[in-house]
Amino acid sequence: MAIATNKPKGKRTFHRRKVCRFCADSSIVIDYKDCDTLRYFTTERGKILPSRISGNCAKHQRKLSLEIKRARNMALLPFTTSSVR
Ligand SMILES: [Zn+2]
Repeated sequence: MAIATNKPKGKRTFHRRKVCRFCADSSIVIDYKDCDTLRYFTTERGKILPSRISGNCAKHQRKLSLEIKRARNMALLPFTTSSVR
C-alpha cells in the first residue's frame, strides 16, 4: 500500500516585485517599429506574452499589444510562426 505523502516541495514563493519595465524606464517608447523590443514580449510562436509573465502594468500591456498588432500588419512580427510544430 502506497501512502501518499503530501510533502510540500521546496517551493519558495519569493516576492520579487515585478516592475513594468516601461514604467521603470520611461525612455523606452513602445513603438511598432521597435520590433526587437516587441519580440521580447511575444512567445516563440508569435503570441503576445501575458502581462502576468512579462510583468507589465495594464496600461503598458495595452499599449504593447496594440503596437505588436501594428507591427504584425507591417510584417515586422509574425502572426504565428509557420514552422510546423
Ligand atoms: Zn507600465
